[in-house]
Amino acid sequence: MDDLNGKVALVTGASVGIGRAIAEGLAKVGVDLAVNYFQHQAEAEEVCASIRTLGRRALAVQADVSKSAEVERLVKTVEESLGTVEILVNNAGIARVQPLAEIREEDWDELITVNLKSAFLVTQRVVPGMRARHWGRIINVSSVAAHIGGVVGPHYAASKAGMLGLTHSYANLLVREGITANSIAPALVYTQMVASNPRARADLIPVGRFGKVEEVADVAVMLAGNGYITGQTINVDGGWYMT
Ligand code: NAD
Repeated sequence: MDDLNGKVALVTGASVGIGRAIAEGLAKVGVDLAVNYFQHQAEAEEVCASIRTLGRRALAVQADVSKSAEVERLVKTVEESLGTVEILVNNAGIARVQPLAEIREEDWDELITVNLKSAFLVTQRVVPGMRARHWGRIINVSSVAAHIGGVVGPHYAASKAGMLGLTHSYANLLVREGITANSIAPALVYTQMVASNPRARADLIPVGRFGKVEEVADVAVMLAGNGYITGQTINVDGGWYMT
């Protein structure tokens, strides 16, 4: 496994939930962290404080990653303060639980923009720095919904399936440059997103319980350290979708 000590990671949507656990998991193996947040400033500062107690540098940066100007400001701030982003985790995302017949064009546009376009924008912005270093890790947080539809809706499932295409293309294009791109496809990991979705029930999961954020973070840390896995989707879903 590659030594991650002193590497710089950017995790989007890292103030709460899966993003927070990934940020803290990476810090435990020696990574310095840029904690992007959208609305939860106090929580983001809390994550940074917990990372600093591990002896790592941490910086909270507010930005809506679905907007290119904000992505530019975000990454520039991180580069100036922590250095080149070497590990990118595209985690920021939203789910809108709506009856099928009520999903409108605006809802489609919103989910595709926030969940999928954001990953493209941030990846495009950080890849030149990774290429210059001949080392990089792109980790996209997709969903079981990409494979089986899931419990949110077609707009969410399509946004998460799009992330798999993004992953495959970046993996292909960058495979000779020391840069890997992989996806994690979780299901029903107990966060605010799941707690607020009445369709998310533990009995849907073969292992019979919700997942824990640390169980996703564990895989992200593994992917950050492994230079021989690329273009893959690691399913962290209690056996819901088997490949
Ligand atoms: P969460 O709601 O706790 O966290 C999502 C985070 O993304 C929040 O911090 C939110 O503020 C941030 N965010 C949303 N829009 C943003 C924007 N425009 N710019 C910056 N940040 C933004 O949910 P979670 O369960 O921790 O979800 C994390 C990721 O995992 C999401 O992409 C979600 O789709 C995916 N996921 C979660 C599950 C699950 O079971 N929890 C399953 C599959 C996939």
